[in-house]
Amino acid sequence: MASIISVANQKGGVGKTTTAVNLAACIALAGKKVLLVDIDPQSNATSGLGVTPNGGAGVYDLIMGSATLDEVVHATEIDTLKIIPATVDLAGAEVELVSVEQRETRLKQAIQPALERFDYMVIDCPPSLGLLTLNALTGSHSVLVPMQCEYYALQGLSHLMQTLKRVKQSLNPQLRIEGILLTMYDARTSLTRQVQDQVKKYFKDFLLTTVIPRNVRLSEAPSHGQPVILYDSRSKGADAYVELAKEIILRGRRNLGNPSSNLSEV
Ligand code: ADP
Ligand code: MG
Repeated sequence: MASIISVANQKGGVGKTTTAVNLAACIALAGKKVLLVDIDPQSNATSGLGVTPNGGAGVYDLIMGSATLDEVVHATEIDTLKIIPATVDLAGAEVELVSVEQRETRLKQAIQPALERFDYMVIDCPPSLGLLTLNALTGSHSVLVPMQCEYYALQGLSHLMQTLKRVKQSLNPQLRIEGILLTMYDARTSLTRQVQDQVKKYFKDFLLTTVIPRNVRLSEAPSHGQPVILYDSRSKGADAYVELAKEIILRGRRNLGNPSSNLSEV
């Protein structure tokens, strides 16, 4: 049964897509079967893996019920990594979904048949807490929250936690926090360390051990349509996401015996 992880944070530019793509790729290269689901209308995860749906169907058609799962799952350069791409019409989905029945559970229902075919699903969310993100959170077992060590990051984080708690109460009682991931990390600045200390203090065990350093290879890789592990396997960025994949796989094993939500701990 696949473990479904949403990568979410309502702030843009914090490393959601970079994390979704590279985590998915590194878990896949560790021998797991992984499905990456791009539900951001900007479709950065899709283009970042060099996938062009070319007028073909994507996650929009799946959510709206006009395409089957098999029609929207695309292959990637990595055998064990598949992707459901985002297409331009996804931009309208946020509005169209409002009047649709069971609007928060469309994605959950649609990916159900893939649960047995994959070990992991990673969902790349848009930078908002709208209906698309709500669909991802409702359909997930856990949420991975990338954050940049900035002054306002903590405020954004507590807003996100409130939303997660609401989703747990009304739509998904099992929802867990997978972890908080510090991205574009630069240990030389004191602000970075201050924010890290604060996150440690308030969110304790939720802070992941792995941090993702600022690394130019990570920002170059998408323009080559590749995850960083294929683009430059010896880069610091690749090392960091390999570490993250190991940490996430390990955490998953530990949580097997205790699948209940940990959201009441924050
Ligand atoms: P989001 O999906 O949250 O909007 P992205 O993953 O698209 O964020 O990242 C925003 C920008 O920062 C992109 O141009 C990306 O290439 C770059 N970026 C992300 N993580 C890193 C990193 N660790 N080092 C350097 N650049 C990064
Ligand atoms: Mg993104």
